Amino acid sequence: MVTRRPTSVIAISLVLAAAILAITIVVLVEMREDALRREQEAANNIALLVDRDTSRNLEVYDLSLQAVIEALARPEVMKLPPDLRRMVLFDRSTTAKYIGSILVLDETGKLILDSRDETPLGGSFAYRDYFTVQRDSPNVGLYISHPFAPLLHEGGPTIALSRRLTHADGSFAGVVVGTMRLEYFHDLFAGMKLGPNGSMALMLADGTMLMRRPLDPKLIGSSLKHTANYERFVLQPSGEFFGTASIDNVPRWYNFRHIQSYPLILDIALATGDIYTEWRRRAWIIGSIVAALDLLIVALAVRFSKELTRRLKVEEELRVLARTDGLTGLDNRRTFEAHADVAWRNAQRTGRPLSLLLFDVDSFKGYNDFYGHSAGDDALISVARSIAHYTRRPLDCAARYGGEEFALLAPDTDEDGAMQLAEKIRAAVQTRSIHHVASTHHVLTVSVGVACTSMHPFGTWRALVDAADAALYDAKDAGRNRVRCYQANAATSVPDPAVPLGQLGQPGR
Ligand code: GH3
Ligand code: MG
Ligand code: MG
Repeated sequence: MVTRRPTSVIAISLVLAAAILAITIVVLVEMREDALRREQEAANNIALLVDRDTSRNLEVYDLSLQAVIEALARPEVMKLPPDLRRMVLFDRSTTAKYIGSILVLDETGKLILDSRDETPLGGSFAYRDYFTVQRDSPNVGLYISHPFAPLLHEGGPTIALSRRLTHADGSFAGVVVGTMRLEYFHDLFAGMKLGPNGSMALMLADGTMLMRRPLDPKLIGSSLKHTANYERFVLQPSGEFFGTASIDNVPRWYNFRHIQSYPLILDIALATGDIYTEWRRRAWIIGSIVAALDLLIVALAVRFSKELTRRLKVEEELRVLARTDGLTGLDNRRTFEAHADVAWRNAQRTGRPLSLLLFDVDSFKGYNDFYGHSAGDDALISVARSIAHYTRRPLDCAARYGGEEFALLAPDTDEDGAMQLAEKIRAAVQTRSIHHVASTHHVLTVSVGVACTSMHPFGTWRALVDAADAALYDAKDAGRNRVRCYQANAATSVPDPAVPLGQLGQPGR
């Protein structure tokens, strides 16, 4: 981790978690699209397969009908004995599993030949659509009938394919009809994989249902003409769309096509629920793992950030401890020296004045002896407060310089300013009126030595310190509780006329 800021740790973890989430969402969306695409391809293949199988069977069947028509055109065929005639007219394909029988009806609809029966019972089929359509419209070609229940032979719902028979003059001579059990489509549909809620349907171009999976026998022969889906089926030769079946109200993806060259429409519909079943399962697994990962990342980040906050706090405390004086809270000597170094160099570079004030508590040994060391500590704290109170400017630096000695660094402050400042602090300490019976002043006081770069070209920082120290010495000599400025020309202290010489204590500094 490159950052040390606790909030950044959490922010980074949130960004990371969000990025992982975003990538996951993109991947899941793509997986979802892939799932749809795969299913669509599968449905397309099924549609193609059913289309080809249906077309081929219808074509073969139609060829059989046409073969019958051609054979019937030859007069000698009708003169053959019935068994031979059947062999000539109806090939073996007509005995295929789903094929019913091929019938020949005369122009009145009367049955005259039956591929399955040498002696057909007769009867009229003039009412069937495969007859009436051919009779009424000469150019229909191959006609696929509506479903019906066959009369002649066993079998479920059936459709018929019919072709027109004509006399030599072109007039209507009857029809050749081949019946086909819808079970063929049922079995064809049953072999396709559609998912539990998928559906397939084959209908006539006019919307009449021929077969559906799942099969509800009532639906066979019903019309879908007015359904929304049918309206879309007739718009184009093939297409796909999302829709809902009017039959069971299941939302599905539809793939439909018009069977090549036959008036049939096939639709394959996959339930949207089925399409995404596997995807949903995977999405749950991946989503849960990513959510757990994200939570873990954020939880770890929160924990790490708390630990970092704690550590930074401890570090800051240590830094403050290292920087400040434990008793008074002022900067310690080391910090002061560092500040002084910078301030000295700045003053040298800019030529601006730099003042140093050194404080020493007067007769402090006596104070300690009389009041005790603990009271001495409290007194030092009070003195420090007075100094800190007047250390107001940002670059000013007050420190505990030694045991009962303090220092104040005042950049950009000339001699006069420094003297005024020193006097204020001296007076402030005195005003605190901390009893000190052993002092000639009866209260706790400080002596102050002031040196400023404006008064003398000090060559080094040390020289400035020594000057302030000498001034402090002077203050002590002069009777304490006073401010003395470094006198460049005077090697010794200047006595304070206000205090009789005899009252001066021995400087214990
Ligand atoms: P002078 O006026 O000449 O400075 O007299 P003085 O008694 O202050 O002189 P001296 O420097 O000999 O005494 C300083 C005393 O300050 C000695 C020491 O016991 C006391 N002192 C130094 N540091 C501390 C501290 O942290 N706490 C307490 N209570 N006393 C301290
Ligand atoms: Mg002292
Ligand atoms: Mg001292």
